[in-house]
Amino acid sequence: MTDLWSEALQGLQPRLGVQTFDLWLRPIELQEVVGDCLHLTAPNGFLKEWFETHYLGLVLDQIRSTTTKDFQVKITVVSKPDKESEKVCEKSISGDSKPKTHQEFATKTQIFAPQGLLTRYRFDNFIQGPNNELAASAAWSVAQDPGKRFNPLFIYGGVGLGKTHLLHAIGQQIHQLRPELRIIYQSAEKFTNEFITAVRTNQFNEFHARYRENCDVLLLDDIQFIAGRDRTMDEFFYIFNALYEANKQIVVTSDRPPGDMERMEDRLISRLNWGLVADIKPPDLATRVAILRQKAEANQIFVEDAALFTIAKKVCANVRELEGAFVRVATLSTLRKVSIDDAFISSALENIARTSEQTITVEKIQKVVADYFSVRVSDLKGQRRTRSIARPRMLAMYLCRELSNTSFPEIGQHFGGRDHSTVINACKRVVATQKQEPEMNKIIEQLREHICADNPQIYAWPDVGARKLA
Ligand code: ADP
Ligand code: MG
Repeated sequence: MTDLWSEALQGLQPRLGVQTFDLWLRPIELQEVVGDCLHLTAPNGFLKEWFETHYLGLVLDQIRSTTTKDFQVKITVVSKPDKESEKVCEKSISGDSKPKTHQEFATKTQIFAPQGLLTRYRFDNFIQGPNNELAASAAWSVAQDPGKRFNPLFIYGGVGLGKTHLLHAIGQQIHQLRPELRIIYQSAEKFTNEFITAVRTNQFNEFHARYRENCDVLLLDDIQFIAGRDRTMDEFFYIFNALYEANKQIVVTSDRPPGDMERMEDRLISRLNWGLVADIKPPDLATRVAILRQKAEANQIFVEDAALFTIAKKVCANVRELEGAFVRVATLSTLRKVSIDDAFISSALENIARTSEQTITVEKIQKVVADYFSVRVSDLKGQRRTRSIARPRMLAMYLCRELSNTSFPEIGQHFGGRDHSTVINACKRVVATQKQEPEMNKIIEQLREHICADNPQIYAWPDVGARKLA
């Protein structure tokens, strides 16, 4: 039966790609089969939930195709970090009295205070959505198993999208699970200044010791800053090599992918590409609402979901601006002692709204989608139902709803006078297909990029689940 499980997984690997497979399927293990129930284990609750909602159906289909049997599934979380820390305890402490808990361990061995970490940025207040899925899950994974899976982890994306947040979250999590590890968070700018000061004051040995010898986890933020600074690049190159060879975890962020950093040394670019490179895009609408909800809850401010939705629709560019808008609305409403409704939000965010005004039309979306699939716009509006037309039509309707601020009936009108229920069904089908066919996400992503090319601030994606990581 174990064979059947691994065969099923292997059968899915080509379809899902190595990265997805390694992240989400490999960690799930089959323990035993009792009757028609598969007993599986997952290393943490997040992975369990993600596997259940995204991949379990696929795996069961795959098993059904070879056995013609339907299995039930029971997934138990078997916490790997605890196992790891127990292992560390066993390794580090000799004698009979092995510590059994983390706290006991902490009292018996050295704990290193992480350097530079901010406690306000954690996994439990980081909202995951389709825009940051890979980066967030890789960050989580690195935090469970530093130095083992993705090394280095390179996270890139525009300003205010959560790169720094993730870096701190990794540090916090590792410190909790492995307090004996020496963790350094540093911005590349401060790193550069530190290096220059060390050279100037002849304290180069201390600098070396800090980053090469006394560091188990290096979290370096905004590495693009060192591009073009030859000596700093050289120094980082040696630090990287020393840490990498010793299996120490390196996580780096940047505003662009490694290869796009001008004046960055080739040998560094190549190393930064060795592990996993994950991007963060602007958050979709559902994620923006989830972020706002979490901020409201954290600050104990009561705001109706409808109001959060209105704010999220107005501010699309990045999370920092979204937070700014929320604080503005919340503060003004307290000062003026008025409740937060649509009219109030509009006046409070007048200026933001003006810059984010949407100009994407249904016509533009139809044209982009038609070009992409090499069909005619008239086909999208017509009655033919062949798959080669029906699929682009369904996607175009979905993207109209998402990006053009047009109602379901209006969209129906633009597509040959179809009924609004047809448009609603098309949107639902797209969401369902995304779950079954990961390829679909890529297509939508590309279409969205083409459509939004002239409006980078508009990048909404409703109807897909946004979730907390922990
Ligand atoms: P970056 O480093 O990419 O410029 P930051 O990590 O500084 O962005 O994020 C800007 C702000 O937005 C921070 O306050 C951060 O907590 C918040 N933020 C960004 N992404 C998320 C998210 N997915 N969930 C919750 N808060 C987020
Ligand atoms: Mg940052």
